[in-house]
Amino acid sequence: MSIEDKRPVRVRFAPSPTGPLHIGGVRTALYNYLYARQKDGIFILRIEDTDQTRYVNGAEDYILQSLEWLGLQPDESVSTPGDFGPYRQSERKDLYRAYVQKLIASGHAYYAFDSTQDLEAMRAREMAKGQHSPKYDASVRMTMKNSLTLSQAETKALIAAGNNVTVRMKIPRDVQISFTDEIRGRVTFDSNELDDKVILKADGLPTYHLANIVDDYHMQITHVIRGEEWLSSTGHHVLLYRAFGWEKVMPVFAHLPLILKPSGKGKLSKRDGAKFGFPVFPLNWMDEKEGQLYTGFREQGFLPQAVLNFLAFLGWNPGTEQEIFSMDELIEAFSISQINKSGAQFNIDKARWYNQQYIIASSPDDLYEMLKEDLGQGYEPDYVKRVIHMLQPRVETMMDFKEQSMFFFQAPAKYDDKTLKKKYKVANADHIRQIATNLLDVDTQDIEAIDTCIKGYMATHELGFGAIFPLLRIFITGSTRGPDLMETIQLLGVQEVYDRLNTGLSYVQNLNENA
Ligand code: GLU
Repeated sequence: MSIEDKRPVRVRFAPSPTGPLHIGGVRTALYNYLYARQKDGIFILRIEDTDQTRYVNGAEDYILQSLEWLGLQPDESVSTPGDFGPYRQSERKDLYRAYVQKLIASGHAYYAFDSTQDLEAMRAREMAKGQHSPKYDASVRMTMKNSLTLSQAETKALIAAGNNVTVRMKIPRDVQISFTDEIRGRVTFDSNELDDKVILKADGLPTYHLANIVDDYHMQITHVIRGEEWLSSTGHHVLLYRAFGWEKVMPVFAHLPLILKPSGKGKLSKRDGAKFGFPVFPLNWMDEKEGQLYTGFREQGFLPQAVLNFLAFLGWNPGTEQEIFSMDELIEAFSISQINKSGAQFNIDKARWYNQQYIIASSPDDLYEMLKEDLGQGYEPDYVKRVIHMLQPRVETMMDFKEQSMFFFQAPAKYDDKTLKKKYKVANADHIRQIATNLLDVDTQDIEAIDTCIKGYMATHELGFGAIFPLLRIFITGSTRGPDLMETIQLLGVQEVYDRLNTGLSYVQNLNENA
């Protein structure tokens, strides 16, 4: 099929529940979602769980929850089935077995009974002959234990015995297998480079390759948008389409570039997240086997829209200067042809920048709804919203709100002693005390009056900015950094500020006496 195909667009995201959904997987889901929405198509979530040995409890739920948090709701999935189910491969076993039989009958596949030792012996033999990467293929298959080398009776007996019964694809010799990848252009494989892949395992379940093709066909998938790591399998996949006679409805392929480590060298791994202290998963994931908690973007205080906007640009760009895209804008602007071929470097600072932009653009009311469990318990919602509004331009993540707003809800429990000692001069204590007292006469709502009260006093007494401001700030907030001081005083109220300044003065005097 070609990209202009007239069939309704149906795309799928097909993760295997072998662990938490990596951020690269989320990007694959996003691109599929964008494409489906743009083309009025259908976005399917299919769980590819035929590899029982790699199955991880909780991973499927994690995938569903992640997509839900991000707002990438599938039209068809295990939880919202459509007409093409089941959407979990382990529930489609019979279908695969029937297709395996078809391939055997048409001579495109054969039974193989080789044990692990047989396979190892073959590899050793081939290596001894100078073969660097030996594989089960046309050059060796006639030396192995399979239905091509054994008699019909022997084959039947081995199938009945049920030991090591697998089925392998019979890859033809000397065939050029070409297809057009929408991102990479023409891709060609030489069949002599491909191995006779196992398509049905000894446990009776198909491998990824067979199940994936059968399902894409049955689910009428028109476009396969997936990670680059699957490009090397596509030669086998095209051969399967041919063997089944489904070439006419073969989907369009688009293999997405890798997401690289921040250094640009090598693929981004979950270890990088732990190593550099940034999330590579959408939600927290507790790895029971490793006893390690991997933090998620959500728990690190990222907004889902910011994560999506960031991910959209990891491998794609609209060809304009615009960087902030709402979901609707992404849907409109997205195009497969503008996806890059080369890997995309993961940059957490960029993710934080996006998050900051989305926080700035959010309303304090919305932010309050998200933060109210963690912020300003017992305070009036209006007060908490004003705090949020004030901090909005200063934070990068939702977690920063909590950290940076503490002094709005309680007087500083400790101060930055080193700075305090540096900034404090005994001669200024009385001035600070006087400013505190003067503030009590000011209308808290009147920010101009607060400003005049403090600056006026400083001017009259010829006090430099550095003599007073840093101290005021430390006494009021605990540190030398924070939002606008006048606004801070206005929000806290003059009485509270009076108390804090006096508490601060007593503290620093003690500090000096004990020094
Ligand atoms: N189950 C594969 C994965 O885990 C799907 C690859 C594909 O989309 O074909 O990524």
